[in-house]
Amino acid sequence: MIFIFFGPPGSGKGTQAKYLVDNYDFAHISTGDLLRHEIEKQTVLGNEVNTIMESGAYVPDKIVIDLIENVLSTSENSNFIFDGYPRTLNQALAFDALLSVKKLKVDLVFNFDVDKDLLIKRISGRFSCASCGAVYNDTFMKTVVEGICDKCGSYEFFRRKDDNLEVFKKRVEVYLKEIKMVRDFYRNKNLVKDIDASQAAELIQIEVKNSLIQSGFII
Ligand code: ADP
Ligand code: AMP
Repeated sequence: MIFIFFGPPGSGKGTQAKYLVDNYDFAHISTGDLLRHEIEKQTVLGNEVNTIMESGAYVPDKIVIDLIENVLSTSENSNFIFDGYPRTLNQALAFDALLSVKKLKVDLVFNFDVDKDLLIKRISGRFSCASCGAVYNDTFMKTVVEGICDKCGSYEFFRRKDDNLEVFKKRVEVYLKEIKMVRDFYRNKNLVKDIDASQAAELIQIEVKNSLIQSGFII
């Protein structure tokens, strides 16, 4: 099964994907995470995309398409949540072509919709566990005990460099410019489920889960 989560930065895609991974047999593929991993490892690719990502622009299609091809050919899992991919029409077309070679197809697309003012609050308060990657928020999703990760007990946290107001504006602008064609592409295939992602995370979880149940993907 192939599911896509798209929505602007801070709309809660990663949070919801992690919930599904913790409770069902899904692999979570976030192109943002894959690219940040390359930067952390200081690979040639990481060095190439670092400044682009810091600026809030998209990295070239070819790079992300190759990354996804690599993931699909090496992963043993056949149930995937793609978070933040595809983000351009070129990526969506390349994804369809790649999936059809593997006799797979996109099963459902969740469109996370959130008001821009709320996104700013979510992004400016986001922090993550440096050890397990769990995502928190200063206002909306605090750790149970301050300074300790609920999931793995680590004391180390980090904030993303691109989670600042100036870069956020650029990220939203690029997102809005590119996503329309991607959304129409999947709407024409009748695959898009719109989600009001300004709700509390628990309510979104229920909505996503119910859609997957109704479509027969999980029980
Ligand atoms: P995305 O993957 O779409 O960029 P995240 O899942 O990382 O978004 O969420 C962005 C920030 O908002 C994080 O700090 C997260 O803890 C918080 N968050 C996620 N979902 C909600 C929600 N429904 N309500 C309030 N805060 C949320
Ligand atoms: P994210 O973690 O999804 O917020 O993505 C962080 C950054 O990674 C984006 O601002 C882009 O620079 C880059 N990126 C992630 N996914 C893609 C994609 N599918 N296409 C182009 N750039 C991407």
